[in-house]
Amino acid sequence: MIQKSEEAKAAECDPSPHEVEASRKVRLVRGFTFEAAHRLPGAGEGHKCRRLHGHSFRVEIVCEGEIDPTTGWLMDFADMREKFAPLLEQLDHRYLNEIDGLSNPTAENLARWIWVRLRPVLPCLTQVSVAENCQGRCEYRG
Ligand SMILES: [Zn+2]
Repeated sequence: MIQKSEEAKAAECDPSPHEVEASRKVRLVRGFTFEAAHRLPGAGEGHKCRRLHGHSFRVEIVCEGEIDPTTGWLMDFADMREKFAPLLEQLDHRYLNEIDGLSNPTAENLARWIWVRLRPVLPCLTQVSVAENCQGRCEYRG
């Protein structure tokens, strides 16, 4: 009798998969890369980033929402690429300082610049991240 009681107790703590409530919330991350030159006029006198130089920038855009019961996805990754494409065209193989709104193109300002232009056409956008190298990145959440 005691053993049966313990089994019943264990069952309460470990419900069968059929009894688990799983949310439909998901987070999609789509990455992009582009090459560009910039200089950072706000860096201190003598700082190496004041000089003209380039990076292989890496951008990630993140969308969050619920899985559509019909399609089985939040959105098509191809749609994320399509929404970002016009911005990528403005950034790739450019001198970023010449772009309207990017006179001081730090990773932070670039992430914000992307957010402001992407959010209106991609309402599920919750984060934009920008990395200039493998050591670190800026994450912007609006
Ligand atoms: Zn740089």
